[in-house]
Amino acid sequence: VSSSVIFDVVIVGGGVAGLTAALHLSKTNCNVCLIEKNEYPIHKVCGEYVSNEVVDYLAYLDIHPFASGAVPITQFELSTKNGNLLNTKLPLGGFGMSRYALDYLLFKKVKDSITTVYDTVTTINATIKEGTVTLQNRKSIRGKVILGAHGKRSIVDKSLQRDFIFKKSQWLGVKAHYEYEFPEDKVALHAFDGGYCGLSKTETGAVNACYLTTYQSFKKIGDISQFQREILSFNPHLKDFFSKAKPIFKEPKVISQISFDKKQPVDHHVFMIGDSAGLIHPLCGNGMAMAIHSAKLFVDAYLELKNSDTFNLITLQNIYTQKWNENFQKRLATGRKIQKLLQSDTLTNNLLILGRIFPFLIPQIIKRTHGNPIAI
Ligand SMILES: Cc1cc2nc3c(=O)[nH]c(=O)nc-3n(C[C@H](O)[C@H](O)[C@H](O)COP(=O)(O)OP(=O)(O)OC[C@H]3O[C@@H](n4cnc5c(N)ncnc54)[C@H](O)[C@@H]3O)c2cc1C
Repeated sequence: VSSSVIFDVVIVGGGVAGLTAALHLSKTNCNVCLIEKNEYPIHKVCGEYVSNEVVDYLAYLDIHPFASGAVPITQFELSTKNGNLLNTKLPLGGFGMSRYALDYLLFKKVKDSITTVYDTVTTINATIKEGTVTLQNRKSIRGKVILGAHGKRSIVDKSLQRDFIFKKSQWLGVKAHYEYEFPEDKVALHAFDGGYCGLSKTETGAVNACYLTTYQSFKKIGDISQFQREILSFNPHLKDFFSKAKPIFKEPKVISQISFDKKQPVDHHVFMIGDSAGLIHPLCGNGMAMAIHSAKLFVDAYLELKNSDTFNLITLQNIYTQKWNENFQKRLATGRKIQKLLQSDTLTNNLLILGRIFPFLIPQIIKRTHGNPIAI
């Protein structure tokens, strides 16, 4: 890409947020450049449960997960670390699809209509007039608008001097696919000492097991298999899983330093979408839907202003920030509260007891961490 070209929008990162924005923008007459450090398809640490709130919007973008094998999920199961169980219906439901397949599905749809560069962005410099991103190969790419879709944590956050990147985070995530008898229509969340593990099926029939734990809890053992045998398997449901399930991956995928700190939806004139704007606690199962929705919020605001005579970046920043806060601030706050609650065994037990007495309670809590179906 020549540095004399100025794209309308440069997107840093091609996960669900960046790919959705690219796909939506590619339906208009925008000149888009997407920069992604990894080639597709690739496995990612993720619970791989996607809320149905995105289905209509994805269909509008001509993306049909169910036609590509995604499994409908309608039931939710929660257990305490001792194995006390609660089953309930999900208010809106969702689908199970691996990130390997979902990100690739989005990428295949958009790749011919945009410029894609496979490289790592090291720095972003943006002003209210335009922005420049620098790649690891030292080349630069210019855009009138820069979208940060680089996920939870990236080298570019350092270049932007974002607060959270300089703080240590205690969370790490582990994920792998397994062969195991498990109902297709269920997502389970099983607590263990220092974390929780999600189980659900993907489009291949494999069960995705993905857990979040604290470094403090993990470092007492230090080895993944032993940690699963000794700490996770204290919960009888996880004991059954890890003793019977046949691993499909050679090794689980692991990520560390997962931060749930507050971030800004616009930072240094870069429009943040998806996790780079804020990460909801994974137990809510709503991160991907928020990432996809935030891409739409940006594109809607951008297109509306772009087509008016009064386009300027400051107005766009104000509109996008307001929309982002309106849609996601409360969900993130609720996610933080539920996370704290699930860290306490006594409180989780109490929640289960209350949930059995008042069956509407858990679906109500789930609703507070999710949105309505995204309006087209
Ligand atoms: C343990 C765990 C379990 C989860 N489970 C669920 C779940 O079940 N359901 C759910 O909805 N959400 C879940 N989430 C959240 C979900 O994974 C995220 O919200 C979602 O991936 C956000 O998408 P994104 O596009 O913002 O980021 P990502 O999917 O992380 O994409 C960011 C992309 O940017 C690229 N990138 C990063 N830096 C650079 C750079 N410098 N240059 C070029 N490219 C770059 C990366 O390679 C990546 O492809 C979970 C999260 C965790 C940690």
